Amino acid sequence: MDHAYITLTIPKKKNIALIAHDSKKHELIEWCRVHKDILEKHSLCGTGTTARMITDQTGLPVKGYNSGPLGGDQQIGAKIVEGRIDLVIFLSDPLTAQPHDPDVKALLRIAQVYDIPIANTKATADFMITSPYMDKEYDHEVINFKRNIEKRAETL
Ligand code: PGA
Repeated sequence: MDHAYITLTIPKKKNIALIAHDSKKHELIEWCRVHKDILEKHSLCGTGTTARMITDQTGLPVKGYNSGPLGGDQQIGAKIVEGRIDLVIFLSDPLTAQPHDPDVKALLRIAQVYDIPIANTKATADFMITSPYMDKEYDHEVINFKRNIEKRAETL
């Protein structure tokens, strides 16, 4: 089989990454409080400061990676590539320049490449977290990375 796409399954219990820029952190913490019953059923991780603040203020266990400006967004991007993150809530700040803007863009891009649900606003996050798919498996077509390398190595 050498199809360009393979079917991957987002499991019923999801690995969810939580990230908020500084001006959005309290909004995300409040959002976590509102949806705590749902979030408790999944595994949570996030960039360092966001993860710590959510745990401190809601009691939800959130595994923390490095702080965003120190590579945390890149760590989360790498986990997406490895198939270890299934869904991302990323409340970014559209009104403030970020020192790690290239990392932010890289994370958004890699989520697109791997067809990972990613919410950038609270409304999107509300729609996503109340989706029937939160409670079941979801099959999606993702680029066949092994086949992609074979093809490139043959043709370039
Ligand atoms: P932080 O990182 O959670 O460590 O603040 C978030 C970000 O700015 O990407």
